[in-house]
Amino acid sequence: MSLYRNSTALPLTYWGQFEALGEFNSNLNIPERLWAAWYAWMQNDVLATGIMSFMMHEMVYFGRSLPWILIDSMGFFKGYKIQNNKIPTLKEQWDCAKFVLLSHFTVELPQIWLFHPMAQFFGLSTSIPFPSLWTMAYQIAIFFVMEDTWHYFSHRALHWGPLYKAIHKIHHQYSAPFGLAAEYASPIEVMILGFGTVGCPIVWCAFTGDLHILTMYIWIVLRLFQAIDAHSGYEFPWSLHHFLPFWAGADHHDLHHEKFIGNYSSSFRWWDYVLDTEYNPESIKKRRAEKKAQ
Ligand SMILES: [Zn+2]
Ligand SMILES: [Zn+2]
Repeated sequence: MSLYRNSTALPLTYWGQFEALGEFNSNLNIPERLWAAWYAWMQNDVLATGIMSFMMHEMVYFGRSLPWILIDSMGFFKGYKIQNNKIPTLKEQWDCAKFVLLSHFTVELPQIWLFHPMAQFFGLSTSIPFPSLWTMAYQIAIFFVMEDTWHYFSHRALHWGPLYKAIHKIHHQYSAPFGLAAEYASPIEVMILGFGTVGCPIVWCAFTGDLHILTMYIWIVLRLFQAIDAHSGYEFPWSLHHFLPFWAGADHHDLHHEKFIGNYSSSFRWWDYVLDTEYNPESIKKRRAEKKAQ
């Protein structure tokens, strides 16, 4: 961002940077100016990326969980609750939030600090202009497929006895999940499964040399939405998997928490289908019929 940073005549406030960027670079749109002004104003790229990443994660995680907390505590949509005899109390949700916050501040914060140097090492771009919408869309679609594959196999491995007891058991404390419980997990699990979310784009960038941090942010926001909604405990007639039959959704992951078996993938149903670990009323019926036929 040395373009504007080295000039001594530049104003020092964030909005001053924003205005100056507009004056000298009329080709930039507003989001691009907001982005570049942040880096110029911070004068420290590691801090700029670190603070932006951490804030974004907190705002999206708790912001997306809030509607689910309200839905649970106000009793809206009771008819759509999957395990409708197990509505989490406010106290349960508050205890869960405290655990998640503690883990964000102690385990995740130092890792987020390393994000910018790592991104630079692998050649992620932080500069402007932003990549095109099409580039962002196809890369994010690839990350969804890559992450889901990583998640399926590592999550399935975490259900192997010793690993389950040592690591994954914490996440299964809630047999009827709720949005906030998405990241209720051991720090080791956060690292293993988090590798799918953060590592897949970095591996992609290491091979192609083509990834912007903004694309990564949008991907992480969508992945957070996916994880929180999958834990929400609510299945609606308008849930995405009714329109995209291979989308997993809450219906898929809620059963995983209730039964502790099957439905290991995160976003899609195909790995569970192909490797016969799918758990739903139809797959149980199918398995019973196969047994009988034998
Ligand atoms: Zn599990
Ligand atoms: Zn879960």
